[in-house]
Amino acid sequence: MGLRNIITIDGPAGAGKSTLARDLARRLAWNFLDTGAIYRAVAVAASEAGIPISSPGRMGEFVRALEVRVELESDMSRIFVDGRELTGLIRGEKISTLTSFISSFPEVRGALEGVQHRLGANGRLVSEGRDQGTKIFPLAGLKFFLTAAVGERARRRFLELALKDPSVRYEDVLAKMTERDGFDENRAETPLRAADDALLVDSTDKSKEEVLNFMEYKAREVFSDLF
Ligand code: C5P
Repeated sequence: MGLRNIITIDGPAGAGKSTLARDLARRLAWNFLDTGAIYRAVAVAASEAGIPISSPGRMGEFVRALEVRVELESDMSRIFVDGRELTGLIRGEKISTLTSFISSFPEVRGALEGVQHRLGANGRLVSEGRDQGTKIFPLAGLKFFLTAAVGERARRRFLELALKDPSVRYEDVLAKMTERDGFDENRAETPLRAADDALLVDSTDKSKEEVLNFMEYKAREVFSDLF
């Protein structure tokens, strides 16, 4: 994709990408795209349809045949699969693990490239995921790779989950997160890694506000002709 006025935010689970991408997009009055939500919705559809996860070929065929539509809203990406909204079903831990697993199939990744490119076609987009800067929008004018120590990422996710379910255990959240990092980093097809031209941001000891201010500062500097 040739568009320069795109900001990509990649990084591991729980680094705060979604919140930061959403808030940065708001500050800039750009659109925000949560590409993880697309992968998650497709995983829900595949699980409902009983597609065997042991068959990348069948999984790819299934995903290619789906009509995936994304509505970009200021605080979320709403995902419709074959006309049905799946956004409300995508956040569970089981779906997180399944998503990470099927996202390692090149057939699945290839099937979802087009929808992401179309969403970026008009630029002015903050897009977050795992491969936005390396693969989907390699010419993006500003790329961030956001990370934090795994213990800190698990702590943040634990606090979020514990609000909804007091029986959640930190050790379980940490184990799941480590497992998912492993899948995302070690897959053969576009593994999670920083683009060579990405700015590395480690948020372990930083507040969300600090990171957001830095990102906004860089965006206004890089895209000074647009603001
Ligand atoms: O970001 P989120 O946690 O919602 O992503 C869920 C999973 O989807 C990730 O663990 C990853 O395996 C996959 N994903 C991906 N490429 C993206 C976005 C998400 O492989 N661009």
